[in-house]
Amino acid sequence: MTPKATNCRDCGKLFLNIGTGKYCPECMQKHEKQMDEIASYVRDNPRSSVDEICAALDVKKSLVLSMLQSGRLEEIDINVKYPCAACGKKISHGRYCKACGKKITGEIAASLRRIRDNAKLQKAKKGVYSKEQWLDK
Ligand SMILES: [Zn+2]
Ligand SMILES: [Zn+2]
Repeated sequence: MTPKATNCRDCGKLFLNIGTGKYCPECMQKHEKQMDEIASYVRDNPRSSVDEICAALDVKKSLVLSMLQSGRLEEIDINVKYPCAACGKKISHGRYCKACGKKITGEIAASLRRIRDNAKLQKAKKGVYSKEQWLDK
């Protein structure tokens, strides 16, 4: 990637983007520090919500959410709530709530079952035919 002058998404300052992302080096450093703060805050206050974290640490909600969705807080036993990517229900891990996750894996399982049932049906049909053939004799 060729370096490109980009406005930092956070502070708006112009910086030379060498493929490091949307933020200037200072904000990237700031974010790293904030992410550490978020992680330790969540460790100390496992029951806190995203709003509480933002208020307590003065960090952007999107930063906390991106940490959660990328699994950066997964190893910590947290109860932070943010909306499911599919239905908007409050969740604390991954991208989907339990119901949507189940629905998505359920759909895959259902289509697999359909394929299996079809195969069984074909086999059963064959079985009937051969029996009839046997009776004809
Ligand atoms: Zn910046
Ligand atoms: Zn959902």
